[in-house]
Parts: sequence; structure tokens; C-alpha cells
Amino acid sequence: MKIICVGRNYLKHIKEMGNDVPSEPALFMKPETSILPAGESFELPDFSNNIHYEVEVVLKIARKLKNADKSDINGSFTELTLGIDFTARDLQNKMKNSGTSWEIAKAFDHSAVIGDFLPVNNFRDINHLGFRLEKNGQVVQESNTSLMLFKYEDILAYASKFFTLLPGDLIFTGTPDGVGAVEAGNILEGFMEEKSMFTTKII
Ligand code: ZN
Repeated sequence: MKIICVGRNYLKHIKEMGNDVPSEPALFMKPETSILPAGESFELPDFSNNIHYEVEVVLKIARKLKNADKSDINGSFTELTLGIDFTARDLQNKMKNSGTSWEIAKAFDHSAVIGDFLPVNNFRDINHLGFRLEKNGQVVQESNTSLMLFKYEDILAYASKFFTLLPGDLIFTGTPDGVGAVEAGNILEGFMEEKSMFTTKII
């Protein structure tokens, strides 16, 4: 399986990073070894002094998509959850500044927290889905999927031009504003509407 992530999909987050608004979804990938199952602790790696949380809605692909049309994504994902795209911001900035690939800053081991999946039809409207991240019980990120620049169908149609999407593949749909650093002892908890989707301790 593979994990495809969208960068720069919420306007306020693009602004807080000082980036330009993209005309196409900005995609990158994480390997299977990046997964940190819900409930397991995240161990701060020794190669970074600035690990950031990014809470994101995550889709699980249910059927093969290749060169999909936007009108053809119905039923292509039947479950979703919330996750964290952990980012080594210091490495990413260093590599951005030197113009080299920042893959390692995003795809390292355990950089992808995956919550418990729920059926899409558990939610009233996944296009207007409120979600938030709490750090030690304080809200640090809060948004709604209605604010995504590229909607589910835009992301899946675009991604499937380049990558065949297969059942079990995961799509991280981008983070809203409020990203920040973690330190040992922090507890991160993600909520979709009022449902807790994951709890991750930083050690
Ligand atoms: Zn992200």
C-alpha cells in the first residue's frame, strides 16, 4: 500500500507557511513504514529538533482508480479517519532553501499517525466535516473540510493520473492552519465532529 499526501490545501495554512496558492494539488508520498498505528507513542527522532504536527482527514481507497474522471469517484473511498502528517520542519526548511527534495522530512518512520477508520456514511456530510487537534487538552488546529481548496474528487482524479490508486491506499487531504512543534510529554488527540479518532503521546 501507499500513502499519498496533499500539501497546501487550506488557504490559512498556505498563508502561515508563506507559500503560494497552487493551481494543482501538491502531492507527495509516505511509505508503508511511515505508519504509526493509533494509540502508539511517537518517539522524537534524533535527526530533527523541530517536529511539527499537521492534523488531516485521511481517506481509505476502496476500489482501483486510474485516470479517474472527477465524476467517477463515487464509492472509491468508503471509510475515513483523521491522522497526523508529522513533519521535520527544520529539515524541510533546510532542503527547501537549498532547492533539494524534502522527502525525508515527510516520509520518515512513524511520521503518519492513522486513526480508527469509520464508514463515510457515519457522517452527515463529509464535505462539511468539522475536525480539530488538541495538544494537552487545548485546541491547536480546528477547521472544516468545506475549506479544502481541492476537494476529494479533485485530489483523487489528479493523483490517479500519475499513480494507480488501489484498495487500501491512504490519502492525506492536507492540513489547516495552526501547525506547531511537539515536545516529549505532549498528548495529541484528534476529533472528527465530537468523536475522538486517535490519541498519540510524544516521547
Ligand atoms: Zn500535511
